[in-house]
Amino acid sequence: MTDIIPFLKSLLSVSGLSGFEGPVAKLIEEKWRPLVDETSLSRVGSLHGLKKGSGKEQRPAIMIATHMDAIGLRVSKIRDGFLHITNIGGIDIRVLPGMEVTVHVSGTNEELPAVIAMPSTRLLPESEGDAVIAMNHLLVDTGLTPREVEKNVRVGDLVSFANEPLELAGDVLSGHSVDNRASVAALTVCLEELQNTSHDWDVWAVATVQEENSYLGAYSSAFQLRPQIAIAVDGTHAKGPSANGWQTFPMGKGVGLCIGPNMHPFLHKKLKEVADRTEIPWFLDVTPDHSGTDAYPMQTTAEGIPTALVEFPIRYMHTPVESVAVKDIQRAGRLLAEFIASLEADFVDTIVWE
Ligand SMILES: [Zn+2]
Repeated sequence: MTDIIPFLKSLLSVSGLSGFEGPVAKLIEEKWRPLVDETSLSRVGSLHGLKKGSGKEQRPAIMIATHMDAIGLRVSKIRDGFLHITNIGGIDIRVLPGMEVTVHVSGTNEELPAVIAMPSTRLLPESEGDAVIAMNHLLVDTGLTPREVEKNVRVGDLVSFANEPLELAGDVLSGHSVDNRASVAALTVCLEELQNTSHDWDVWAVATVQEENSYLGAYSSAFQLRPQIAIAVDGTHAKGPSANGWQTFPMGKGVGLCIGPNMHPFLHKKLKEVADRTEIPWFLDVTPDHSGTDAYPMQTTAEGIPTALVEFPIRYMHTPVESVAVKDIQRAGRLLAEFIASLEADFVDTIVWE
């Protein structure tokens, strides 16, 4: 198995906020191009990679969705040379003060390094002194004079996290956008595994846009490609300090296979069988209601597409230091490849809801 860390680190070093995925899409396209038969962009910017199966024409197809968009910020107001910000996607605002960010000047390729700062506690209203500082008090400082800021920066400009990914000891990688670029890396592992594996089915590898706000990418690609079955890959909450409930899972111990109304039980059963047969460790994640992932839009597209959800645990979700075990990414990729290879031409006819 090839080392996925360098590619994942490059994915964690580019921007690509929800609705503005261009920079990361380009990087993924370059990586996927030699691994698939064709690549294209959907009308809304999702990346499609088609790896053709070896079955007879009119082959069934599976779509694997990994969202490539990331949470971030944008300029909401400019005052005295400082930028006020609002969020793109669900950000944990407790961790923002002290962050390094990049301001993307709209209409140019210019990027301004900046930091997120907040007024001294003594200068804030007494009621806010010791509390989490609300976003409207946070300031982005580019170091430029008010006049230069007025000239360069516009309300609406994007602000992305700028911290570089960090390899922690013990096979853990930390950085912004691990949700969900780690899944893009897992799908890449899957495509690499499929280079030497025969599979009857066509495979649509899809890096979707806008999962963090509207599911636009997964809805539109599932509608366009009409796969017979679909799998979403995404992060779930890892166990950690003060995070030990039933909805958290140990990191580095395997992949999550979800059950719940958003997942097709037959696909879940089949994934479990493949994981057991290939000795890939897994845990069960009971996901009530809407899974909050691309599994939902794919399942509810067109006539309804049988869909499964594969996950791996991430610590500190929706912060700039999301952390993941590299081993889990490789396992998820291998499981996807083994699952695809196991699909027989008539698999769709055997699917029952039970
Ligand atoms: Zn996600």
